[in-house]
Amino acid sequence: MTARPLVLVSNDDGIDSPGMAALARALGDLADVLVCVPERERSAVSHAITLHKPLRAEERQPGWYAISGTPVDCVYIGILRLAQRKPDLVVSGINSGFNLGSDVFYSGTVAAAAEGALRGIPALALSQAPGGDVEAAARFGVALASSMLKYRLPARTVLNVNLPEDVDKRFRWTRLGERIYRDLAEDREDPRGRKYYWIGGPPVGVADVAGSDGEAVRDGLTSVTPLRMDLTSYDLLEPPPGWTLDGFDVA
Ligand code: MN
Repeated sequence: MTARPLVLVSNDDGIDSPGMAALARALGDLADVLVCVPERERSAVSHAITLHKPLRAEERQPGWYAISGTPVDCVYIGILRLAQRKPDLVVSGINSGFNLGSDVFYSGTVAAAAEGALRGIPALALSQAPGGDVEAAARFGVALASSMLKYRLPARTVLNVNLPEDVDKRFRWTRLGERIYRDLAEDREDPRGRKYYWIGGPPVGVADVAGSDGEAVRDGLTSVTPLRMDLTSYDLLEPPPGWTLDGFDVA
């Protein structure tokens, strides 16, 4: 008998996330599941790690750890300490809210998956329109996880999935598009009369980018975007022709 695969589940919405719970339970049909998630919501912390204070892990139920750190801390400790063997897959989510276009740079959900990919483990991130049907989204996650365990993707790749509220049978394979936010950096005054800033306006839509993640969810479909961890610009492996830097030479 072959051993069941081990799936490490993380997220950035924290241990109380209904999307995470639905996903972790559903993955139990497929694999042994280890849950390593922040003890509270840590959305939009990107790939931050905690280097200057202790991290504590509390096992809330067998195999479900709430950790006093970031999503990447959770995956790091999960792989190196809490897992009994190397996980076969890292699955992050289901996040409440899309992670489209440039969101992938800010997202803790995507970062948790990226940490798995950087450590050579296949990884996927799942995000859904707020208030969506998490059970249906979890079923898609299980189908995709099962497929990823069977078919090897190129190394250091993350599949970034965005699901609409009502999950359709159809999905699209997409590229990153552009999500548009209302820019906001307000200055306000606290009750003691000192100025503070409040940043981050609401999303207002997606740019028209053919074949993009935003276009897919705007069409009511699930989007699957392959992301590579190598951010090198392959269009620019040489400096542009005629490009010089005063006083310095290209070696
Ligand atoms: Mn989140």
